[in-house]
Order: sequence, then C-alpha cells, then structure tokens
Amino acid sequence: MGYYKDQYYHFDLENLTEEIVFEELHRIVSEGVREFCTCPVCVQDIAAIVLNRVPPIYCCSMLEKISPRKSLQERLEETREQVRAIIHEAIDTVIRFEHH
Ligand SMILES: [Zn+2]
Repeated sequence: MGYYKDQYYHFDLENLTEEIVFEELHRIVSEGVREFCTCPVCVQDIAAIVLNRVPPIYCCSMLEKISPRKSLQERLEETREQVRAIIHEAIDTVIRFEHH
C-alpha cells in the first residue's frame, strides 16, 4: 500500500467489484472450461485487466455489504454481467503474454 493510503485506510473500505471478478475467475477455474495457467501471477494479471475496464463499486459499510439495498444489488448484477462479458478476453491476453 502507499504511504498516504496507509495513513487513512480502514479495513472496511472495499471495491466490491474485486470480489465479483475473483468469484467469476473461481467459477471458470472450477468448471475447467478454459485451459490457462492458474498460478497467482497469471490469475492476478487477469483480475487486473478486468478491474481496469469495469467500474469500481467502493463501499465502507459492513451493513451494506451484508444486506445491499436494491440499487446496490442492481449495480452488482450489472457489474457481474460486464465482468462475464470481458473476462475471457482478459484470459486470452494473459495466455498470449504470459510473463511469470
Ligand atoms: Zn502463471
């Protein structure tokens, strides 16, 4: 983490899009539908490509995270659709430029 982020960061500030990306990655890996390297370096590269293209959903409220309002639920679902639409492209990119 950076110097300033360290000073102000509190554990519950979270980009909820990250969990969606890793959940979708986990689904693809466990279904075994794609052949690609699942080492931590490659998986993190795939996540970074997707996260740079999908809007973040930052949230600091534990309550919101456990029981999201309808508007947040809708955003999370939209985000999941966006992630699903581009995650295979990100996997292709990492397969092509593997650098571990
Ligand atoms: Zn790898």
